[in-house]
Amino acid sequence: MAGGTDVLIMVRNKLGVWGESPPLLNLNSIPDLNFIQETDTNIEIGPLVTHTQLLESPIIAKNIPVLKKAVSIIGSPQIRNLGTIVGNMCRASPAADTLAPLYTRNTLVQVQTVNNSELLPIDEFISGPGQISIPKNGLVTKIVIPKLEGYRGDYISLRQRYALSIVVVSIAVEVLLSKDKLRIDDIRISLGAVAPTIVRARKTESLLKSHTFSEDLIEQSEKMIVEECRPISDIRSNKRYRKAMTGVLLGRILKNLNQYIENI
Ligand SMILES: Cc1cc2nc3c(=O)[nH]c(=O)nc-3n(C[C@H](O)[C@H](O)[C@H](O)COP(=O)(O)OP(=O)(O)OC[C@H]3O[C@@H](n4cnc5c(N)ncnc54)[C@H](O)[C@@H]3O)c2cc1C
Repeated sequence: MAGGTDVLIMVRNKLGVWGESPPLLNLNSIPDLNFIQETDTNIEIGPLVTHTQLLESPIIAKNIPVLKKAVSIIGSPQIRNLGTIVGNMCRASPAADTLAPLYTRNTLVQVQTVNNSELLPIDEFISGPGQISIPKNGLVTKIVIPKLEGYRGDYISLRQRYALSIVVVSIAVEVLLSKDKLRIDDIRISLGAVAPTIVRARKTESLLKSHTFSEDLIEQSEKMIVEECRPISDIRSNKRYRKAMTGVLLGRILKNLNQYIENI
């Protein structure tokens, strides 16, 4: 248990493995696990860092503004004061707000046991809804987020309202433009709540990469992302709406970027 905002509800309601009342280790008794640090190439975040700490961190504001935006929408001030980014990731919900920005960065997860420590890519660490690759005696001791110099990005989530509600569709995008700002040199697009885990829209990324920005290209990419994603219907939304919205949200982010370029 880190912040306990997820796990204590599971324990109280005897959900999943918590029905068998396994022992719970409160990580708050290990203060060394609370750190945000910057190296030449990465940002490293410990498992006790709360969403509020991320929002207040100049390191996060400077290096991962897309993550900061995603965190700002989580739950309520009380949830953000207790809940942690690592707890959000270990819960492995396809609707978790921090995950789409972590997938665009190819984040690494450090899993540690008494005898072993390994760094796993986030898309290997999370294997399905609520499923993570971690031994029974294992602990996530940090996440490592690569820096992306010169990228611009955004995170948008659709939800019923902007407090205490769960994502219907979310998208994180990070783009590197050429020096003359005309061409897309690199683009990373992650989608939330449209598959059992967060997914990268690889076909749409390939369509946009190395191409010059144009309204026609944006339109093509909107159509491709709708085709590429395979959402399900559930109590929060249906398949058709989720598919359509991936195109709308990508279009919104790319049009904003195009406008920024025109105004330079
Ligand atoms: C009212 C409410 C609103 C919410 N709103 C949102 C929202 O808008 N967006 C959103 O994404 N989430 C939301 N959540 C979900 C939750 O608050 C977040 O996912 C939060 O970040 C979880 O962090 P935590 O530290 O509280 O996790 P905990 O509850 O402490 O742990 C969650 C899971 O991760 C495991 N875990 C934690 N740390 C580690 C570790 N270091 N190593 C291995 N396993 C670990 C625990 O065993 C548990 O299975 C909401 C929850 C509530 C109750």
